[in-house]
Amino acid sequence: MAKFDNSFTDELRQRLSLVDVISRRIPLVKKGQNYWGCCPFHNEKTPSFSVSEDKGFYHCFGCGEHGDIISFTMKSENVDFKTAISELADMAGVKMPEIKQKTPEQKQAEENYVKITESATQIYQDLLYTDAGKTALDYIKKRGFSDEMIKKYRIGYAPKNNIISSKFSNVKQDKLIATGLVRIGNYGLYDFFRDKLMFPIFNAHGQIVAFSGRSLDGSEPKYINTTDTELFHKRQTIFGFNFARDAIHKQNRSIVVEGQIDAIQMQNHGFPETVAPLGTALTEDHIALLCKSNRNIIFCFDGDNAGQKAAIRACTLVLPFLRDNSDVRFAFVSGGKDPDEILKSSGESAMKKIIDNSVSLIDFLWDSINKNYLTNTPNGRAQADKFLKECISKISDKIFQNEIEQEYNNRKFNQWHKWKKQKYVSEIELPDIDSMTENVIKSIVQTYPEIAEKYLDFLSSLNISFDEKSPKSDLDFENAEKFIVSVKLQRHIQKLNQEKQKILSDALNNQNSGAENLKEIDEKIKQAQEKLELLLDMNNK
Ligand SMILES: [Zn+2]
Repeated sequence: MAKFDNSFTDELRQRLSLVDVISRRIPLVKKGQNYWGCCPFHNEKTPSFSVSEDKGFYHCFGCGEHGDIISFTMKSENVDFKTAISELADMAGVKMPEIKQKTPEQKQAEENYVKITESATQIYQDLLYTDAGKTALDYIKKRGFSDEMIKKYRIGYAPKNNIISSKFSNVKQDKLIATGLVRIGNYGLYDFFRDKLMFPIFNAHGQIVAFSGRSLDGSEPKYINTTDTELFHKRQTIFGFNFARDAIHKQNRSIVVEGQIDAIQMQNHGFPETVAPLGTALTEDHIALLCKSNRNIIFCFDGDNAGQKAAIRACTLVLPFLRDNSDVRFAFVSGGKDPDEILKSSGESAMKKIIDNSVSLIDFLWDSINKNYLTNTPNGRAQADKFLKECISKISDKIFQNEIEQEYNNRKFNQWHKWKKQKYVSEIELPDIDSMTENVIKSIVQTYPEIAEKYLDFLSSLNISFDEKSPKSDLDFENAEKFIVSVKLQRHIQKLNQEKQKILSDALNNQNSGAENLKEIDEKIKQAQEKLELLLDMNNK
């Protein structure tokens, strides 16, 4: 049978959540580490079908069915491997690759690759504790790294000379070049990393696939990373993930910081669930990887403009992954410090405070559009509204999307449209409307901001407080508008009747008759009543 490239099926497993895929078929409930439901493969009333998102496997304790995301799709939909893969690829939004099998040569090449990176790491580690590595060691110690931490993260030193090119002289050039550790120039091979503090980059299985090197002489850029290779894709790799994985499960959340030193310090000072993207830009793949464990992420950024921008970017990237049980939050470190400095100067408790004070994605998005657009002008509000609508449309869970939309409608209504607070002054005082009608109006106003805008003069004359939240209106748009118009007509008739009473009493007190006016008012009342009847008649149809 033709096989797909393993890396493609791996990519599907990485991008799709097993729990999501299975939940489309059967309801699952989380109990402990795993999710449970009634087995779709045998008949049962009490759940014995367990799903482990972490391991990527399901297992039924009733009938013994067992497998992964691909076998589940094959069995539950009764389709072959190829169809299952193509359905999952659709779901994950990735293109189907050409069918290709990993050749023995490719497998061999991967093995060679990891062997080279592994021994290079060992060389760098040893050099850190020699005279050549003194500056690097001093630097990393000054950043608060203990020997234990240096060992755990396998931090090392790449010397000024071409150590890798010379030590691996018995290895074929192309194999060495494939790892990104060396390059070829006019004078032969040379090391890509020279005079750098070296942080190995591990894949999710704990293999070293790349390096991040920090300059030690103050030269820019501060960090250089291995350029993408067969086994290392910067966009898909998160620094520290292999160390944080278990904690992300246990704490049921992940924390994303900007730099790798921050990530290491956080992991070792009370926040083992912390990771960092490589370089500054976060990608969709990074978020997909984190969301596989759970959808609770705290993004921790700098409080400055760049940090705000990065946060907005993270926000738009994470929206498609949001579910009603996700908790995505944003924390900001102020005062130009990063988490590493906070931990050092003020300790874990200060950092905990920052994390605890994080704002929800819903609040963050609202606050930032109000900061970035002039929402006290119609133009600014329109721009902000467009951006907000674009964001909301990215949420793929439809029910949740509706709820978020409703929440923002409430905020727009209460915070952008201040007209409801204006008091309407009328020469003729009408009694307040009854509470039942008032409640219907309130829910219409909150559900349909467009209607509220259209009838705002009338609504603001009603002496109703629109401040508190109301339940969603049961009426559809058309009937909601009709309801408002009918109340408006009734109030109009009430007002005309009062005017009529006034004229009549005036006429009694002084002999000047208001007969002309009276006729006019009677005519107006008649017209309004006809309109109202027509409207109510239409409602009954
Ligand atoms: Zn079963």
